[in-house]
Amino acid sequence: MRITFLGCGDAFGSGGRFNTCFMVDTPNADAGDLRFLIDCGATSLVAMRRQGVNPDSIDAVFLTHLHGDHFGGLAFLLLQAAIEKTREKPLAIAGPPGAEQSIRAAMEALFPGSGTTQFPFPIDFISLEAGLAAQVRGVTVDAFRADHGAGMQCFSLRLSIGGKSIAYTGDTAWGDNVIAAGQGADLLIAEAYFFDRVVGKHTSYFQIDDNAEAIGAKRIILTHMSDDMLARREEVPYTCAEDGLVVDL
Ligand SMILES: [Zn+2]
Repeated sequence: MRITFLGCGDAFGSGGRFNTCFMVDTPNADAGDLRFLIDCGATSLVAMRRQGVNPDSIDAVFLTHLHGDHFGGLAFLLLQAAIEKTREKPLAIAGPPGAEQSIRAAMEALFPGSGTTQFPFPIDFISLEAGLAAQVRGVTVDAFRADHGAGMQCFSLRLSIGGKSIAYTGDTAWGDNVIAAGQGADLLIAEAYFFDRVVGKHTSYFQIDDNAEAIGAKRIILTHMSDDMLARREEVPYTCAEDGLVVDL
């Protein structure tokens, strides 16, 4: 299994990094190789082009929450595929309830008239539910309720396939969801927004480090770092993600 960090920035471009978008390539016993994204922030189509990734090669997208820096790239990706008719293979999009409406609303806001686009390829929208494992394109998806703001469901996710598991905190205030998602995972990608203070409904580095043993993930990689955290990344004993970082599990 190979993880490529196409984007590992926060919402506001700290460090010149692209918004969140992790690409996973894995053998899939059911249907040949599988390529999926974990989140698809607003800048993700640019990030894919930067890394030479064909957007039409994506089989599935798993969304933690419906903030623009985590899902907004789908407005561009889907519209590009619909207009340029480059894509034939099916796409699955799994995320919080309301993902399809949010994606279509984003398309309509950014490209008026496009919100009702009929996609010229099969597209499945799958609503995830906390506590209920879902099967999507051979991936077992466990969603854990995250605390990240009013008016929407947010998840930490754990994705398992081929005997390997990747967990991602998403954006979340520190909570048991991080421990549950990361428990024994081969890799936990953990939000580390600030270094040693808590800002908003986000997880800070010290919370991940203080609880690393309880989480029990085999490996932790930090992401979604503000300038405050980026300035101190040499002080931490974990890998800090970079745009373009490739990790094999
Ligand atoms: Zn967010």
